[in-house]
Amino acid sequence: MDLFEYQGKRFFADYGMPISPGEIAFTVDEAVAAAERLGTPVMVKAQVHTGGRGKAGGVKFAATIDDVREHAGNILGLDISGHVVGRVWIEQASDIADEYYASFTLDRSAKKHLGMLSVEGGVEIEAVAEENPDAIAKIWVDPVDGLDESTTREWVAAAGLPAAAVEGAVDILLKLYESYVDGDADLVEINPLILTDDGRVHVLDAKVTLDGNSVFRHESYAEFDGTQTRDERETAAHAKGLQYVGLDGSVGVIANGAGLAMSTVDVVNQVGGNAANFLDIGGGANADVMAGALEVINNDPAVRSIFINIFGGITRGDEVANGIVEAIGRVDIGSPIVIRLDGTNADEGRAILDAHLSESLQMAPTMLDAARMAVALADAGEGVEA
Ligand code: GDP
Ligand code: MG
Repeated sequence: MDLFEYQGKRFFADYGMPISPGEIAFTVDEAVAAAERLGTPVMVKAQVHTGGRGKAGGVKFAATIDDVREHAGNILGLDISGHVVGRVWIEQASDIADEYYASFTLDRSAKKHLGMLSVEGGVEIEAVAEENPDAIAKIWVDPVDGLDESTTREWVAAAGLPAAAVEGAVDILLKLYESYVDGDADLVEINPLILTDDGRVHVLDAKVTLDGNSVFRHESYAEFDGTQTRDERETAAHAKGLQYVGLDGSVGVIANGAGLAMSTVDVVNQVGGNAANFLDIGGGANADVMAGALEVINNDPAVRSIFINIFGGITRGDEVANGIVEAIGRVDIGSPIVIRLDGTNADEGRAILDAHLSESLQMAPTMLDAARMAVALADAGEGVEA
C-alpha cells in the first residue's frame, strides 16, 4: 500500500518527526486558499504514487500567491510517468542548507532490516548506488534487537553527516525506525532529509509503503487504502476470489497452487519470455474457477498467449481437464492456449483434452516444453492486435 507524500508525512508526524505545515488541495482555488492560510513562500507539490516528481515539473517553489495559482494550474492534471495529478500538497517552503537520504526496508536475504543513510540526498538513491556506492552508509538491524541510540550515532558518523546535523538526524532516524516497525511498513524513505539554514533537521519528502495485510491492526489505514491506485486486472481478479498479481509481460499464466504459479512465472522467464501475471486458481480447478481465470487473463490487452500449468494432486487431472474444456466453451478467448497437465490421473485428463486440441489449444508434455511453446506463441503474436 503506497502512500502519497502528504499521507507519508502525516504518518511520520504521528511518530514525532518534524515536517512542514501544509494542506492538501484538489483545485487551483483550494491551492490558493491554502497558500493564503500558510503564508508564502510555499512549495506546490504533485501528489502521485511515483517518484521523480521534481524532475517532471511536479514540485515548484511559489514566492507569491500568483505563483501558486500558476504552478497549481500547471501541476494539476499533469501526467507524471502515467500518473495524472489529481491533488497538490501546499507546504511552507524551507531554506535548505544540505540534503540527505534516509530509509529503512527489509533485506530478505539477510533476514534483517536494512537502514540506508547518505549525504548525497535529493537525487535518486539508485543513481548514488550506481555512481558513488561508498556515499551510502548501511546498517542491518536484527528485528529482535531493534535499533538503539549508540548504534544510530555510529551510523550517522559513518555516513559523514556534518556536526550540525548529528543530533537532529539521530532523533529522526530512531523515530523513522519506530514508524517502520510499529507502523508495519515495508519501506520508509526520506529523500531529502534536510538541514535548514537555521540548523534544524527536517523531513522534506516522504515515501512510505505499508504492508496491506496489516490494515486490521491500524484503524487509520482505511484512509490510505481508499486512495490506492489499483491495477484494474487485480481488482477484477480479486472480485472473483482469485489470487492474482499483475505483471508486465505477454504470457498469461494460470496454475494451481501458489508455488506452482511462481515456478510457472519463473520458467516463462527462463525460456526468454515474460509473464503477464501470477494467477493461482487454488486446489479445486473446476469449470467456474477456470472460466473466471480465463476471463481475467483474456481481458488483459497485453496477453498474447496463455499457459495453463496444472499439477493434479487431490484435484484429479480428469476433473481439471473437464473444467478446462467447459471453461473454454464459455469464454471467447483471443489468445492461443498451451496446457501442461501432470500428476494424479494425468493420462485420463490428457485423453479428454486430446479431443479438443487445435492451433489455438495445444498441449505439451512438460512444464519446460509448454513454457517454450507459450513464449513462442506470445512472440509470434507480438504486434498483432488482440
Ligand atoms: P521528488 O522529486 O518526487 O523526490 O520530490 P521532493 O519532495 O523530493 O522534491 C524535489 C526537490 O525539490 C527536493 O530535492 C528539493 O531540492 C526541492 N524542494 C522540495 N521542497 C522544498 C522546499 O521547501 N524548499 C526548497 N528550497 N526546495 C524544496
Ligand atoms: Mg524526493
